[in-house]
Amino acid sequence: MINGVTDITSDRDLKEWLKRFFASTDSKRKSRGFTLYNQRAVLDFQDKIFGFTAMVKGSKRYSVSAFFEGVNKAGLPHLDKALFICSCPDDAVICKHTIAAVIKWAVDMDWKRKTAKKLEPRKAAMSQRKPVGGPTLKKLEELAKKTAPVSFAKQHRLDWVFHPEIDEVFNTIQNVIKREMK
Ligand SMILES: [Zn+2]
Repeated sequence: MINGVTDITSDRDLKEWLKRFFASTDSKRKSRGFTLYNQRAVLDFQDKIFGFTAMVKGSKRYSVSAFFEGVNKAGLPHLDKALFICSCPDDAVICKHTIAAVIKWAVDMDWKRKTAKKLEPRKAAMSQRKPVGGPTLKKLEELAKKTAPVSFAKQHRLDWVFHPEIDEVFNTIQNVIKREMK
């Protein structure tokens, strides 16, 4: 059950956005909007390039459309420029169907923002990934320890009695390790 802004999100910016949105309605419509949402009356919600559309089942089925224009610093639509239209006879700027649809939009938005935040460190790690490093380096080190002691000071062809191909592998390992130790 979602009964208020804090049930929808813990995201500071989204909370602020919702508080401002609800400030433009009255408590009766607001609570009816929450009831509609909790009754799963918001059907066929669709994100659109211009905002969103939804079908909300009240006494009849009404279609709600939201038109957003640009986003603020927090990446949320400018509320001053947002336009909400519902096909119901209520002549209030924000009707209960619109409220229910906006709650649905906000719940989805909360999930999207949470997911994006979770992915941020992973994305950063991906972009900073070296050609070889981390676990790969560890594996190379293990391999080096297992096979033969590696002398970093003396790196001479004559030190290696291995097959030339293996020699090549060890040279690569040494280069990688040296590069990582820099
Ligand atoms: Zn309506």
